Amino acid sequence: MNHFQRRSGRLHAEQVPLDELARTHGTPLYVYSTATLTRHWKVLERSLRGLRHLTCYAVKANGNLSVLSTLARLGAGFDIVSGGELYRVLQAGGDPRKVVFSGVGKRDDEIAFALGAGVRVLDVESASELARVSVVARRLGVRAPVALRVNPDVDARTHPYISTGLHRNKFGVPAEEALRLYRLAARDPALHVKGAAMHIGSQITEVAPFLDAVKRMLGLVRKLEKEGITLGHLDIGGGLGIPYDASAEPPPTPAVWGAALRKALRGFRGEVLLEPGRVLVGNAGVLLTRVLHVKRNGRRRFVVVDAGMTDLVRPAMYQAFHEIEPVGSPAERQVTCDVVGPICESSDFLAKGRRMPEVAQGDLLCVRSAGAYGFSMSSQYNARPRAAEVLVDGEEALLARRRETYADLVRGEEPARRGGRLGSRRGLR
Ligand SMILES: *Cc1c(COP(=O)(O)O)cnc(C)c1O
Repeated sequence: MNHFQRRSGRLHAEQVPLDELARTHGTPLYVYSTATLTRHWKVLERSLRGLRHLTCYAVKANGNLSVLSTLARLGAGFDIVSGGELYRVLQAGGDPRKVVFSGVGKRDDEIAFALGAGVRVLDVESASELARVSVVARRLGVRAPVALRVNPDVDARTHPYISTGLHRNKFGVPAEEALRLYRLAARDPALHVKGAAMHIGSQITEVAPFLDAVKRMLGLVRKLEKEGITLGHLDIGGGLGIPYDASAEPPPTPAVWGAALRKALRGFRGEVLLEPGRVLVGNAGVLLTRVLHVKRNGRRRFVVVDAGMTDLVRPAMYQAFHEIEPVGSPAERQVTCDVVGPICESSDFLAKGRRMPEVAQGDLLCVRSAGAYGFSMSSQYNARPRAAEVLVDGEEALLARRRETYADLVRGEEPARRGGRLGSRRGLR
């Protein structure tokens, strides 16, 4: 359920007509719905009722401060993968004691930033990273809270680029090695072993891979307990999929997923952490884009719009599907077309061979389910200023990020000077 519905023909975000937002803020434009975000949060929390848990929203799905602060107010913790994401969480008023620092390659300065801020745990993904965390903690005179991210070697059966829990992926440590690293960590006075983590992939549309992975993790927990190493938490990661294509079979609802997990985790006495991203924000956002041209090359019909892979890369990167529909009343006539952007790449499309209502130059289109991995993966390729972002709450619309300007494109850059010796310039001496 989301709050982007049609009323007397026009698509709205909650009480606000989308065409008004496009007129005020221009296109391409991301629009998020507070009511949808809040609803998704509550549905997920309800699905885990009875389980002692902390939900740490995965910032990389959508890191806009308005989204982070909304979730922080609802009580969310945060899953971060960089120092920059920690900065965002702090700027949004998030509680560092509810922050999990994930990621396969953390720099020393990022580890130090996280330890200084007092994050809840660093998820460590290799022997060498465990050693780095220990060194940085000693240097700061603190004890680093750590968990190992274990690679449970299960197939999440999702797109290979977003599958992370197989041995052939770069993520986590194999269960056998985890045992050895836990022993090492438990003896290191600069480390404090807190728990174990997994994250097997994204846009997972079945419950079974989660259950398989949890079962394997609980096996490890038992082995560690026999050695006197007790884990305070088990982090089951994120990855629950969302419906993108109304004509395809929907992924399990949070209620179904939560019930299965509650059952699987019954034997675990510690706290359960989870790191959902997409399921919270994916369907809480849309991308608005304007039709620039409709053209034909031979028998193919192209709808050229002003949003491209720089704004929403998922179709180009993962062959992802997004519903696209006119914001105004849809035409009766259906046509088959490619919806493409203005970027100089043939992979620059939002839809291929799509059956949809015929559209014309100047029409405003709504690309649905764009709240996760939309703006956060956007770029300035082709020197395109990034889109604006708006958060709607009832009748109100907050400009949550202003559209970038041409000046933003070159901020921090310097033209090479003619004549002068490069090395003698101030700042480079
Ligand atoms: C990306 C990521 C998530 C969130 O994944 P979703 O599919 O958006 O739920 C959670 N944890 C880690 C470690 C991640 O890398």
